[in-house]
Amino acid sequence: MRVVVVGGGIAGVSTVAALRAGGFDGDLTLVDAGELPYDRPPLSKEYLAGGKDLKQIALQPPHWYDEQRVRLINQSTVTALRPAHGAVELTGGLLLRADRVVLATGGGAARPPIPGGDGERVHVLRTADDADRLRAALTPGARVLVVGAGLIGAEVASTAVDLGCEVVLTDPVAKPLAAALGGELAAWLHELHARRGIVTLRAGVESFAETPDGIEVRFTGGFEPSRAFDAAVLGVGMVPVTALAAAAGLEAERGVVVDDLQVTSNPAVLAVGDAARTRRGPRAEHWEAAQHDGARAAAAILGTRPPAPTAPWFWTDRHGRHVEVVGAMGAAGRVVVRGSFDDPAFSVFGLRGGLVVAAAAVDDSSAARAARRMIDRRVPVHPRRLADPSVNLRALLRA
Ligand SMILES: Cc1cc2nc3c(=O)[nH]c(=O)nc-3n(C[C@H](O)[C@H](O)[C@H](O)COP(=O)(O)OP(=O)(O)OC[C@H]3O[C@@H](n4cnc5c(N)ncnc54)[C@H](O)[C@@H]3O)c2cc1C
Repeated sequence: MRVVVVGGGIAGVSTVAALRAGGFDGDLTLVDAGELPYDRPPLSKEYLAGGKDLKQIALQPPHWYDEQRVRLINQSTVTALRPAHGAVELTGGLLLRADRVVLATGGGAARPPIPGGDGERVHVLRTADDADRLRAALTPGARVLVVGAGLIGAEVASTAVDLGCEVVLTDPVAKPLAAALGGELAAWLHELHARRGIVTLRAGVESFAETPDGIEVRFTGGFEPSRAFDAAVLGVGMVPVTALAAAAGLEAERGVVVDDLQVTSNPAVLAVGDAARTRRGPRAEHWEAAQHDGARAAAAILGTRPPAPTAPWFWTDRHGRHVEVVGAMGAAGRVVVRGSFDDPAFSVFGLRGGLVVAAAAVDDSSAARAARRMIDRRVPVHPRRLADPSVNLRALLRA
């Protein structure tokens, strides 16, 4: 059997790795538009800060592809799927034979239609090239506007202030990420920005205009006076790349639609990672979810049992704090704080019906791991014991 994986992000690389780990012995090709496939989370963190280069954020070293017998076709783009002919077409018209195609095309940074938003000083962040351009603008003293205080916007604001920029962070929402983190933790994390000298505004952006003094930004609502910046960064979400799937007649709206095994409306084509979505709910848009998709797609191709589902997990880093989130905070009926927000490490647990359904741990990876086990194993916990940092979480797991 011949498998072609389109896209060398974490979802695509995880798919080829899981196929070989699962005993797949056929032809395996990975096509990616970039050079050596690299990881994206560092793009707003160490890579943007200049602490890591492209080689250090590679998903796998170059020799790994040879060892795994993966034909890596890089700096090449798949331009069309021809599932009826068992092939995909690459730039230049080259045809690759494929019995199964896995779409791992990820997403692009959203660029809402704000007047002036396509100007040179208005940045987005999705690729290493984006990060290189942005880093060149983040010089000490540069006036930087970050639009959107979600995961990526907050990380960029934090890195920009580390680099000595004067940062303004604007978001129309009072407590960004409250749905994922719970209101109290979301508010606390948002307040960290001000403590590091970042000015936070509660507004959207109406327009950008180039002036001799920089880009003049007009805010929505008219409450904030317009201001000039040297650079602006839009951190306002991601748009899944679905053009190939749509052109091939696959169901693809707000993501390539897949079933629980990542199979699209055409049984020979699977989709994984940020490009894909199930009918059940919104896409996770996180690193580990993309990795798990790859493992499920590999199992579907191999005809083996897919890995057992586990509570979703993601992390984010800002202002020197490492936050890990598991489960679905929105499902919690009650929130329990373990420790205090002033502690060097603490966590927030979301409970429903005596069970943990979510947790957000600040600088406490072991709490996040324990919470995940509690969720996956549906371990009943007493809220008072959970809230007491002197009670070992492992003991609660055994209870
Ligand atoms: C700046 C940033 C920071 C992040 N930080 C975190 C974090 O801290 N924690 C977390 O959990 N998640 C984080 N994420 C999210 C996480 O990185 C994504 O969920 C993950 O990268 C999705 O992987 P993917 O493989 O689906 O897509 P992508 O990483 O977007 O990879 C898709 C690949 O497909 C290629 N491609 C697309 N179309 C074609 C084509 N036609 N032919 C060939 N190649 C093609 C692209 O060039 C790209 O290399 C972050 C994302 C970004 C952008």
